[in-house]
Amino acid sequence: MSTLLAHSSSKGIQHEATAPTLQLEKVSVTYNLGPGSLSNGRNLTGSQIQYALKDISFAVDRGRRVAIVGPNGAGKSTLFKLIIGQLRPAQGRVHIFGHGPEEHICVGYVPQRSHIDWTFPVTVSDVVMMGRVGKIGFFRWPRRRDKEIVGQSLERVQAGHLAHKQIGELSGGQQQRVFIARALAQEAELLLLDEPLAGLDIPSQEAIFEILDSVQADDVTVLLATHDLSLAAEQFDQILLLNQKIIAYDIPTAVLTPDHLLQAYGGKSVNI
Ligand code: ADP
Ligand code: MG
Repeated sequence: MSTLLAHSSSKGIQHEATAPTLQLEKVSVTYNLGPGSLSNGRNLTGSQIQYALKDISFAVDRGRRVAIVGPNGAGKSTLFKLIIGQLRPAQGRVHIFGHGPEEHICVGYVPQRSHIDWTFPVTVSDVVMMGRVGKIGFFRWPRRRDKEIVGQSLERVQAGHLAHKQIGELSGGQQQRVFIARALAQEAELLLLDEPLAGLDIPSQEAIFEILDSVQADDVTVLLATHDLSLAAEQFDQILLLNQKIIAYDIPTAVLTPDHLLQAYGGKSVNI
C-alpha cells in the first residue's frame, strides 16, 4: 500500500467488509421532457417520462477496472453522477461498500472535460487540495500533512512542476492528470473517470494508463467511460455496455460481439 492510501481507515463511514465496492440494484433515472431538468419522475405522466437509465443492476468488485461504453446519450455521465450522489435514482438503490453514496468521501470523480469551466481562476495545487476537503472539513485550513499529500499526488501523476499554473493553461492530458491527482489526494478507493481519453494523443493516453496501473496496485477500483472500444478491450478487466439499459457486462471478449454492438449502436459504424 502506498503512503497515500495507508490511512484510509479514517475515511467517512466504515465500509462493510464483505460488500462489493459498488452495487446498483434495479436503478432507474428519469428526466422531464419539458423545460425542466432531471427529475425524480414522480410528477410526470407515463408519456412524459424519459429514462436516462432504466433498470440497471450490476456490481463491481474491489480492484477491478471496468470500461463504461455506449453511444452518446447512453447514460454514462448520468451513471457517474448517480454514484457520486449528485443525482438520486427514481427507483432502485446504489450502494458503495454497502452504504449510500452520500455517506462516503472515498469516491473520486474526474468529470468529462467539456463539462468543466477551465477559465475558473484556480491553480493546479488548489484543484488538488479540493480533494482534501472531505478530510479537512470546509471551514478549516489545510495542515502541513495535507500540503504534503497534495505534493505527493501531483508527483505521482508527474505534474509536480505544474503546481502553480492556472488550470486553464494546461494541455488536455495535463488537465486529466491534475484531476486524477485530486482523486489521489482524496485517497479515493473508487475512481470514476468520464471520457478522460477523449481528444488526447497516444502518449497522453499512455500516461493515464500508467497512473491507472499504479492505483490498481493499491486496490483502487476504476470505472472509466470511453468511446474507444479497442482500448476498452485491451486495458480493462470488464466492459459495461450501456444504452439506457445494460446491454452486456462481462469480460471484453464476451461483451464486444456483433449482436451486442448492434443492440447498443444500431446501424452506426463503430471502431474496434
Ligand atoms: P452519455 O454520458 O452517455 O453521453 P448522459 O448521461 O449525458 O449520456 O445522458 C443520458 C441521457 O440523459 C441523454 O438523453 C441526455 O440528453 C439526458 N440528460 C442528461 N443530463 C440531463 C439533464 N440535466 N436534463 C435533462 N436531460 C438530461
Ligand atoms: Mg457523457
